[in-house]
Amino acid sequence: MEKEKQLETIELIKKSTEQMKIDDIEENPESAYEEFQCDCCGEVKILAGSLLYKSFRLCNDCVLIAETGFALNKMTEIEDLLNKMEDKRFETLYNSIFNVEENSMN
Ligand SMILES: [Zn+2]
Repeated sequence: MEKEKQLETIELIKKSTEQMKIDDIEENPESAYEEFQCDCCGEVKILAGSLLYKSFRLCNDCVLIAETGFALNKMTEIEDLLNKMEDKRFETLYNSIFNVEENSMN
């Protein structure tokens, strides 16, 4: 796939994932406030714009990464992305534990 075509694809996916979030909030305004922990990046994100892949719920940012990965044939299974994100998940977990400890010492 050509570079230009790739950028075009990414731009399209970006727009559709953004639209997904807008549609979710329109359909269910509470989804803009409800939070969940993303199975991919491990961060707490709003429910709006999230999507279920098999049994994994991904936040809007990760949906964008996942859909781009699928579209550009960088991955075939959602597990591929979850494996790639493992380090980042650990980092998020580490940071939250570290920050909690730091706060309790104050
Ligand atoms: Zn995420």
